[in-house]
Amino acid sequence: APTTTPQVVINAHDLPYLNAKLPVKTRVKDLLSRMTLAEKIGQMTQAERNALRSKSDIASYALGSLLSGGGSVPTPNTPAAWAAMIDSYQLNAQATRLQVPLIYGVDAVHGHNNVIGATILPHNIGMGATRDPDLSRRTGELTATEVRATGIPWDFAPCVCVVRDDRWGRAYEGYSEDPALVKTMASVITGMQGKADGSQLNQNNHVLATAKHYVGDGGTTYGSSTTGSYKIDQGITKVTPQQLEAIHLDPFKTSVDLGVGTVMPSYSSVDIIGDDGVSVTGPVKMHGNAALINGVLKQRMGFDGFVISDWQAIDQLPGDYPSDIRTSINAGLDMIMVPTNYQGFTQGLTDEVTAGRVTQARVDDAVSRILTQKFKLGLFEHPYSDTSKLGSIGSAEHRATAREAAAKSQVLLKNDGNLLPLASTSKVYVAGSNANDLGNQMGGWSITWQGGSGNTTTGTTILDGIKQVVPTATFSQDASAPLEGHDVGVVVVGERPYAEGIGDVGNNGHTLGLTAADKAAVDKVCAAMKCVVLVVSGRPQVIADQLGEINALVASWLPGTEGAGVADVLFGKRPFGGRLPVSWPKSEAQEPLNVGDASYDPQYPYGWGLTTQAAARQKLADTKKELLRKGFTSPDVLASVIYIDLALRVKDWSGPQATSALAALGQAGKYLQRAKVDSFADDDAVVAGARWIAQDQIGQNLDEATSKLTSDAEHLALTGELSNAIAKLTAAYELH
Ligand code: BGC
Repeated sequence: APTTTPQVVINAHDLPYLNAKLPVKTRVKDLLSRMTLAEKIGQMTQAERNALRSKSDIASYALGSLLSGGGSVPTPNTPAAWAAMIDSYQLNAQATRLQVPLIYGVDAVHGHNNVIGATILPHNIGMGATRDPDLSRRTGELTATEVRATGIPWDFAPCVCVVRDDRWGRAYEGYSEDPALVKTMASVITGMQGKADGSQLNQNNHVLATAKHYVGDGGTTYGSSTTGSYKIDQGITKVTPQQLEAIHLDPFKTSVDLGVGTVMPSYSSVDIIGDDGVSVTGPVKMHGNAALINGVLKQRMGFDGFVISDWQAIDQLPGDYPSDIRTSINAGLDMIMVPTNYQGFTQGLTDEVTAGRVTQARVDDAVSRILTQKFKLGLFEHPYSDTSKLGSIGSAEHRATAREAAAKSQVLLKNDGNLLPLASTSKVYVAGSNANDLGNQMGGWSITWQGGSGNTTTGTTILDGIKQVVPTATFSQDASAPLEGHDVGVVVVGERPYAEGIGDVGNNGHTLGLTAADKAAVDKVCAAMKCVVLVVSGRPQVIADQLGEINALVASWLPGTEGAGVADVLFGKRPFGGRLPVSWPKSEAQEPLNVGDASYDPQYPYGWGLTTQAAARQKLADTKKELLRKGFTSPDVLASVIYIDLALRVKDWSGPQATSALAALGQAGKYLQRAKVDSFADDDAVVAGARWIAQDQIGQNLDEATSKLTSDAEHLALTGELSNAIAKLTAAYELH
């Protein structure tokens, strides 16, 4: 409990809305009936904490919410100071007539990323590469636990944007270019909030989530904005109604189904076009888009949480400020993020309601939605921080999960001669701008809004992780130390941190190319020894011109505070399992580049990601076990198990029988698909196995490999073995 003044007087004693035993609906109705218009409008207002003229304004304006914008942190920036700071604001809200608690919001988009010492996870693009929805759920809960421990019940995350152009300065905030992948990773919402009905929101491992930015933020046409280069990330999404549905709206539908408590509209505009590409609606700013907010989100999808505007975004609507207020509230926005001018907003909305241009009913609807979430969060019962979980912030357990995520997010793009994994006895040479830079490997939205280079918090750099395995590893960022005497070089290149805008402005501008310094380091090291290049960046980097000199290439994304996780896969402690969540271009001119494009010709296709044989075999063995555990539901499942077994019986997939194993996996995949095994994810393991063999044997992609095998004699031989195998397996597993 806070120790600072003012003294809280229990004003609202005994009133029904304070009775936690009553249903939330009843409590909302009761409270709403007691509120003045000013108190209601206060609930709809969110100010930035630094903009408060004095803390007493919280009570004077009956403010419903405060936020910390990126990097708006207390001094010192410690977990305890955060908790004390939030409590001190809450104390002022508790000193009001009705004692409606504040809901404080923060951008914790990859862990509680504003707080020094917190666990910082890979940015979403790396999480997309893991293709692990359970991991996504766990990281959501981890983040929620750390955020809630500091007294904050609300997180402006996740971004369920579908990233259609890698030049977008927020590409790393999204999980994928493919809405299907974004939808599976939206399980992070369940981790953050618990059950879809919101019944677990009052627990100290949960917070309210925000699906953002509704809708089409990742689909803007690059450079379409007319309001200056900074706004280039807030442009226009030109789509047919079908594209809007299938690509951009779909992940929001999933988020709503998962019970997401709030949705944030996008700064960008949507321009509906016909099949001929000609505009039908003209660009409509999302913050005033009644058809998509009221119509689609609230009415059609049934979203019953509240809509929070983006930072000062209503100011961008056409017309004067009163018109901005009117248009946005009437389009369905419930709470406005007015970082600075909260006085002007509350006055403006009061005027609009008084003049009848915004109805009382609209205000009541907005306030009911906000209060509903506050009740569900248990804020009326426990408005202050519960510091019992402060120890979870940056805990060993949380860091272990972040390390697992960092490892699983690594995508092995190229691995000539199976250079990876490296032996722990190797003499390793490390170079490159991102090898030993914690800030760079976290990217934007880390301690400060834009992020920053260097040791801005605690964690392990990739070099630290390598040195834990090979203490004698040599490091020279620009490869100026003697190169002789090493077995292998690890060159860690990539981007420096940025947030929003066009990207790596201080470094490359918006280009997807490496810096001259990183290119030189690659040249030097790869000329002197076998080399692995790790690309630490928020989006693919064009690497085509140096690919020939590189033996192994890894997309590392922005792995967060646990660089040791990257070392885990480099040295085979964990398998490489990540797969590209976005297509990797040959040149920047190919952007926007997405799977399914007519002339799709990427450097590495969407979903690409090599694995090591051991990892692929393990995955396959697990799948077989899982199928057996579930029981044979059909002859197709039985056949797939048998074919998996046959593939595993080939002892070395690099050996002469590799094509037999590949053929067996082809069959296994076919039967698994035919079986459509219920509640069993997919034929991922089979594909991973086949992928490994295909790469190793043919050096080409899977489709090509399988097509070569259709007439393969060995394929037929294997089919001949089938009846024998069935008999043996049936006996082995006592099946009849
Ligand atoms: C971003 C949002 C963020 C908000 C609050 C805006 O600039 O677009 O994603 O939630 O700031 O920090």
